[in-house]
Amino acid sequence: MTKKQFRAESKRLLDLMVNSIYTNKEIFLRELISNASDAIDKIYYKALTDDSLSFNKEDYYIEVAADKDNRILKVSDTGIGMTKQELEENLGVIANSGSLAFKAENAGKDGHDIIGQFGVGFYSVFMVAEVVTVISRALGSNEAYKWESKGADGYNIEQCEKSTVGTDVILKIKETTADENFDEYLEEYQLKSTIKKYSDFIRYPIRMEVSGTRLKEGSDKEYEEYSEEQVINSMVPLWKKNKNELSQEDYDNFYAEKRYGFDKPITHIHISAEGTVSYKAILYIPETMPYDFYTKEYEKGLELYANGVLIMNKCADLLPDYFSFVKGMVDSEDLSLNISREMLQHDRQLKLIAKNIKTKIKNELEKILQNDREKYEEFYKSFGRQLKYGVYSEFGSNKDILQDLLMFHSSKEQKLVTLDEYVSRMSEEQKYIYYASGESIERIEKLPQTELVSDKGYEILYFADDIDEFAISILSSYKDKEFRSVSSGDLGLDTEQDIDPSDADKGNEKLFDQMKDILSNKIKAVRASKRLKNHPVCLSNDGELSIEMEKVLKSMPN
Ligand code: ADP
Ligand code: MG
Repeated sequence: MTKKQFRAESKRLLDLMVNSIYTNKEIFLRELISNASDAIDKIYYKALTDDSLSFNKEDYYIEVAADKDNRILKVSDTGIGMTKQELEENLGVIANSGSLAFKAENAGKDGHDIIGQFGVGFYSVFMVAEVVTVISRALGSNEAYKWESKGADGYNIEQCEKSTVGTDVILKIKETTADENFDEYLEEYQLKSTIKKYSDFIRYPIRMEVSGTRLKEGSDKEYEEYSEEQVINSMVPLWKKNKNELSQEDYDNFYAEKRYGFDKPITHIHISAEGTVSYKAILYIPETMPYDFYTKEYEKGLELYANGVLIMNKCADLLPDYFSFVKGMVDSEDLSLNISREMLQHDRQLKLIAKNIKTKIKNELEKILQNDREKYEEFYKSFGRQLKYGVYSEFGSNKDILQDLLMFHSSKEQKLVTLDEYVSRMSEEQKYIYYASGESIERIEKLPQTELVSDKGYEILYFADDIDEFAISILSSYKDKEFRSVSSGDLGLDTEQDIDPSDADKGNEKLFDQMKDILSNKIKAVRASKRLKNHPVCLSNDGELSIEMEKVLKSMPN
């Protein structure tokens, strides 16, 4: 039998895994249990929606078994299993090669960053195992297959025997070396605590043979040895627990386990709503931007559960576009299990939940902005653009929700400020909220047009992001103060009246005509200006669109 090769990209990742010096290697167990749980979810969901299948909860479980003498750790499930083809497709390649390319580029040499920040599912087993064997029988099939690999040099697949539907993942744990101890992955106590730590809320029982000594029943001094199978996890989903029973670590672990992101979220929102609509939700605001966030590939959405059963991985209708960075899940008893995507869109309950969630997110962001400025700025660096797009899109209908979450660089403060802060600093005679657009803060600072306004002692907001001016054009005013570009014709400053530029135009017509000739079609006219101080010349524009906005529109594909 010939050995099959992994695809090139998987190979690179495997190499990183095998040679990784990542310290949290125990997470491989979390990954295996999570896959097992997903596989049971699939069979459970099938049974619920397909009358020919029945589901007895007792028949579905995950089992962890360690054999210290032979250095074998086995994780078995009674889930949906994999066909031969699925074994090849799911375990032979990395699901999302686009993300891998990104991961590999951004990973440190030792792969630390990859595993720490991204996690890689099944492949993490190669951090602790020298041989990995997967035996699986798919639902509806009489054949079972065995997939085996030692890592980067490829894998074998052959037919084998398995009497029940489901999957066994069998790891031959690496030998302990002077540098590294692998024995702990075979220790009952250690395994138990890892399961508790990462997989406590898994909805199916995780069984394990546990042994020890204990007091004999009915006696207070006689001990007995025991060995029995116990269920290690509490099985209560995190979102059904009481907030005050949960620690920050619990929420962080849930985020990692659920693969919502590979960073540490800046905050979580745990909602337990009752009333017109009942639902529970755990939402996270990530700190760092997913690598594909500003691409078409990025899919927003929250996991949607109907009474504890996952019915959709990414329900887009639960999040407005401007909050598309939010991760998490929603569980509601008011939703039907068999609800289709199309029906969901019109579901009244779902709409109410979405509205509710939107407000909660907004409030949470405002809270962070007020209480932890640094954190908010970190967040804003990643997702501020999305908020600004939100103001601009949908004809500005979201501006009330978003305007207080916006920040712009201030000429006076030399840092990001909110519109509210700007307005509160305005002097009585200042008419407008001034802004200047350009490619970067440094370039805007050098714009001749800013001088006059700055000299008056007025603050200027610097718009260095393409979207800024578009967003502001939709807002048009904030707290009754209009926005005004420093390049606009009327700045509302009394100094402007000093000289009448049309006087200066007189007598200079010849010079101006010549200038225009030389610059030919690049400009429309040359005029004397009343607003220059240290600069000999500046560009100005007629009409609605600013020069910067025109540039953006021109650069957009039609
Ligand atoms: P992910 O779980 O994020 O999809 P993994 O690398 O953990 O990525 O797993 C890859 C795929 O392999 C899964 O999506 C699933 O289709 C399949 N798989 C892994 N473990 C099992 C299992 N125990 N039972 C059935 N399918 C599995
Ligand atoms: Mg997985």
